[in-house]
Amino acid sequence: MPKRILILGAGFAGIQAAVELDRAFGDSGEIEILLVSDQNYFLFTPLLPQIASSNIDPRHIAQAIRDLRGARRFRFVRATVRSVDLERREVHTNPGPSRQWDGSPISYDYLIVAPGSRTDYFGIPGARENTLDFKSLEDAIVVRERVLDACEHADHTRDDELRRKLLTFVVVGGGYTGIELVAEWHDLLFGYVAKRYRGIRADDIRLIVFEAGADILRGVHPKLAEHSRRRLARKGIEVRTNSPVMRCFQGSVEIKGGEIISAEIIVWTAGVRAHSLVESLPGTHDRIGRAVVNESLQIEAHPEVFVAGDSAAAISAMEAPRVGPVAIEHGRIAALNIVHHMRNEPLESYRFVSKGMLVSLGMNYAVVNVGGIRFSGYFAWLFWNVVHLYKLVGFKKQVQVAVDWLLGAVFTRDAAIVRRPRNCPYCDNAP
Ligand SMILES: Cc1cc2nc3c(=O)[nH]c(=O)nc-3n(C[C@H](O)[C@H](O)[C@H](O)COP(=O)(O)OP(=O)(O)OC[C@H]3O[C@@H](n4cnc5c(N)ncnc54)[C@H](O)[C@@H]3O)c2cc1C
Repeated sequence: MPKRILILGAGFAGIQAAVELDRAFGDSGEIEILLVSDQNYFLFTPLLPQIASSNIDPRHIAQAIRDLRGARRFRFVRATVRSVDLERREVHTNPGPSRQWDGSPISYDYLIVAPGSRTDYFGIPGARENTLDFKSLEDAIVVRERVLDACEHADHTRDDELRRKLLTFVVVGGGYTGIELVAEWHDLLFGYVAKRYRGIRADDIRLIVFEAGADILRGVHPKLAEHSRRRLARKGIEVRTNSPVMRCFQGSVEIKGGEIISAEIIVWTAGVRAHSLVESLPGTHDRIGRAVVNESLQIEAHPEVFVAGDSAAAISAMEAPRVGPVAIEHGRIAALNIVHHMRNEPLESYRFVSKGMLVSLGMNYAVVNVGGIRFSGYFAWLFWNVVHLYKLVGFKKQVQVAVDWLLGAVFTRDAAIVRRPRNCPYCDNAP
């Protein structure tokens, strides 16, 4: 029987691990590599804000695993993993709607756990129920359509107060996701909506970011973070630091001090926690639930189990941020260490080396910190585009996104709401 290496999660870490293992074992037949994930595609998350602003077609940042696999040997099964039994060396799944897997436990000889992370609401009352999440492709599509839906209603209401509420867009969390999202919204709302929706004036639109800490863009060089803040202020985006959200209601948030802001769209990007699968693993976990693994990324009591990506905290790099390049490197090291372990060779250690930080502040402007060089502006934005295009997985996807960007530079954005609009609580109840 060939030994089975099971990888949970087809994200940055899981895909990299599968590719690395495939490369190492080739057609040897001694190994079966099985990738299990609940979606049949790899999602390029850095471009999610541009889905929410209608700049890119959603399918263009999702690469089907079966295309990505190409001639590689690893098997893929779409199924949702429910639990991991480290003692019996098996995982329990629910079959996906495609019924590709019958749901029986999957045994393994080696396991790489890489299911990513989830949103943390810090127990803030109403946050989970009354804000929009922004992690998956579907989240970004929903945010885009809800924003456009709010604009449709704002366009025809005669109630000024209601229009202002419908056109107030709030992001909770001033990390790079929240900042890139609000900058993208700015392009959509001022570059398209304010021009095409005749009942909406630019003055009616309000964009606000609430950040609990003293700074936005933590992890970015302080000078670039400050520069970004000034840039956003010049665009009219309100960035309110030291402003923790204390409660969320349907259509409003309460800030520390009691101030209430009414807003139709509130997106939560403030916190990240380890995936529940990882939190339920035995062993030590850090403050946000990530599995604390040794420098080879193994769970100490189970050398055959590796944790990689957003849900792993390597003791050799506890400060590593939860970003794509870290997950990719985790995936690579976990795969190589399985090869080394099988061949009784010394294992590699994970060390965090920052590859820099790139933040887009909307069309034509970005801030970049790479290799100790910091720059901002139009060329930084071009650099941002080139890097993201290069990093996109699959030539077809690269062409599709490049074409989306070119079309976006020539034509207006696409405001079609393709899902059935929600019933309007305002119009439907109007006398
Ligand atoms: C909106 C947004 C923007 C971002 N922008 C950037 C950026 O610009 N630059 C950057 O470097 N990083 C960015 N990140 C962070 C980056 O996406 C993560 O650090 C990275 O995805 C982590 O990789 P991962 O492999 O650990 O998890 P993911 O890439 O999240 O992959 C996890 C995989 O596991 C699957 N899965 C989850 N649960 C189960 C289950 N129960 N059963 C089976 N499969 C499961 C998921 O469907 C997914 O395919 C962004 C993240 C978000 C949400």
